[in-house]
Amino acid sequence: MKGPQSLVRDEIRALTAYPVSPAQGMVKLDAMENPYRLPPELAARMGERLAKVEVNRYPDPAAPHLKERLREAMGIPADLDIVLGNGSDELLQIISTALARPGAVALALEPSFVMYRLAAIAAGLRYVGVPLAADFSLDEDALAAAIERERPALTWIAYPNNPSGNLFPREAILRAVAATPGLVVVDEAYYAFSGGASLLNEVGRHPNLLLVRTVSKLGLAGLRLGLAIGARDWMRELEKLRMPYNVNSLTMAAADLLLAERAVFERQTEAIVAERGRLERDLDAMPRLRRFPSAANFILVRVPDGPGAFERLRERGILVRTFHGSHPLLAHCLRLTVGTPDENTRMLAALAQALG
Ligand code: PMP
Repeated sequence: MKGPQSLVRDEIRALTAYPVSPAQGMVKLDAMENPYRLPPELAARMGERLAKVEVNRYPDPAAPHLKERLREAMGIPADLDIVLGNGSDELLQIISTALARPGAVALALEPSFVMYRLAAIAAGLRYVGVPLAADFSLDEDALAAAIERERPALTWIAYPNNPSGNLFPREAILRAVAATPGLVVVDEAYYAFSGGASLLNEVGRHPNLLLVRTVSKLGLAGLRLGLAIGARDWMRELEKLRMPYNVNSLTMAAADLLLAERAVFERQTEAIVAERGRLERDLDAMPRLRRFPSAANFILVRVPDGPGAFERLRERGILVRTFHGSHPLLAHCLRLTVGTPDENTRMLAALAQALG
């Protein structure tokens, strides 16, 4: 037999590909996207800029302009380096690959972003999940015990966490950094919504702490651009695993131009945070629904019948994300991405009806 059944590694065949639901014509509140489009004037300028890109040439893999823009936009200090990824997804793969010594363990809190597990298994790491408490707060004793038992080469912490939306205590994360013999990567995909909570200023102070960020949630998910931020010696090693032309020249040019206009995205982000507040208040007024606190651009809720509510929302043209069945702690949970005021109003009305 020469087919995939016999040739593909067993642990890969046991995986399921990352699910993306068809969303044509739907109010799309399933993927933590910024709901706002570029202002037309800015879109036109982007078009002009992209027309000048020499697409006959390979992109400049050093991307000095773009990295400078990212430094400015995110306040990245000069003593830290940047490695660019095709989305931060790709950086999860690169980091996992770099640390995948035979027998090495990757650890992540659960539930969290499912790609930590996928990237670990793809790289050949042994994956260990450490459950959060029932309210999705960090069970610091469980984390400390897992670090002690597994001696992980790699630990993932999403800050804020996806899909729960909360921030774990900063001091607890730093205690894990101090306790582990391995690398800790803090994934700040949702930093723009966290009211300034970040571990960026800690990165240079610990030899085993890196940060991953993305421009996706700022409003540029289609560009596919993420970054790892860390000390030079770490970035030098990751750079060897980055395919030289992983970020294409259209993305580089667009991100360079758009990040210079970041006031536009900052206003959009503020509007999203304000809407999150409105959604929280309205969700709290709904009987039979539990809302979990969020420092991100989405809100996790638990309802009496998660799959049923998901279906009823879908019938009314509203796509959210259902987590029922994916992890015991997420029974009957839905994740609602914060949309425009109008989208949120429609979602709330449909949800109120679905709950009866
Ligand atoms: N990290 C977390 C915690 C996420 O939720 C996501 C997207 N769902 C990503 C990373 C990946 O983002 P991207 O590849 O778009 O940069």
